[in-house]
Amino acid sequence: MATRRDMMRGMAAMGGAAVLAGCNASAQTAAPSSRFRAVPNAGYDAWVAAYRGRAQARGIPAGVLDAAFREAGFVPEVVRLDRNQAERRRSLEDYLALTANEAKVARGRPAFRRMASTLSAIEGRYGVPARTIAGLWGVESDFGTKRGEIPVISALSTLAFDGRRGAYFESELTNALRILAAGDTTAARMRGSWAGASGHTQFMPSSYLERAVDFDGDGRRDIWADDPTDALASAANFLARAGWRRGLPWGLEVTGVSGGVGQTRAMSAWAAAGARPAQGGSLPGGSGTLLRPQAGGPLLLVTPNFRVLRRYNPSDSYAIAVGHLGDRVAGQGNFVAGFGADATGLTIDQRRTLQAGLNRAGYDVGTPDGVIGAKTTAAIEAFQRDRGLAVTGLPSPDLLAALR
Ligand code: CA
Repeated sequence: MATRRDMMRGMAAMGGAAVLAGCNASAQTAAPSSRFRAVPNAGYDAWVAAYRGRAQARGIPAGVLDAAFREAGFVPEVVRLDRNQAERRRSLEDYLALTANEAKVARGRPAFRRMASTLSAIEGRYGVPARTIAGLWGVESDFGTKRGEIPVISALSTLAFDGRRGAYFESELTNALRILAAGDTTAARMRGSWAGASGHTQFMPSSYLERAVDFDGDGRRDIWADDPTDALASAANFLARAGWRRGLPWGLEVTGVSGGVGQTRAMSAWAAAGARPAQGGSLPGGSGTLLRPQAGGPLLLVTPNFRVLRRYNPSDSYAIAVGHLGDRVAGQGNFVAGFGADATGLTIDQRRTLQAGLNRAGYDVGTPDGVIGAKTTAAIEAFQRDRGLAVTGLPSPDLLAALR
């Protein structure tokens, strides 16, 4: 998802942890849309010819290489997306609006109910709460509906050939071929994001080899099937092996405390300082770190498991989105603290209203999500130009009033 680029930022440093990115897919079995079509490239072909020798030296059978590269090719869009990663840093509010919004919560609740007994069994084995696994599933692939459409072999070979982080992507390509050699899936079924992450929980091939499990017992570790069982268990296994502490949540919103942001104390000390769960109940045990990820936004008390979620993707916003979306699909309410107005003086509801006004006025911004991205900025600029206003591209209360 365009929304997930910041997850890619830490990817090189992750050494092959599960990473998701760039999955704009819809259908899981259809051929890639024209956007991701492979094109002839002599340099790529020469690179593949040389790579085949290196792969065989690492134990990949020639027959596996033949089958894998018969359909694979150079995909320019993959390179473009990789180069395009240096994008703006999103606020937590915008990140949540894109990855854990109300529409996703509404889609996630029936998915959570449908998988309840499986998630409960997975929680029993690995100790990761069912809801948090569901949250990860929702952030990674919108509960299995957006797993990515790009053939993994094409994506990884394109990036390995392209050369930016070439060694990393060649290593992941070889790992993907090891998966095919083991017979867990086929090249045709192994589709995912532009960066080579695939399946319901968007594992990179190395993470798959290290952490995927056959939870349904059919003899294959199949994270690509429509049935998400193996993928969800594999994600739970990843988190368990990364140190998840059974019996503790990821964290929670608190009220009643103001000082100590950034500090780690015993939960009993936070309680003594006045911290109370915003949703009621009592604080968990152990220790907690107080976070205020965005001025004006919710105050969070996170457990050591928050750091474990960051092992899946090294971003605080990512870990909060996974934990929060999981809580929401399990029935919990939204954060009690609102984010308030942003630097432009507008709340997210007002930013959505402004976007809807631009759409009505004939300036297309897509579905109003309250997140001011390139499309909204361009629409504002066009509106301002057409009205003879100063062209700032920025939302403002005046602009909102003009569009009502
Ligand atoms: Ca299986």
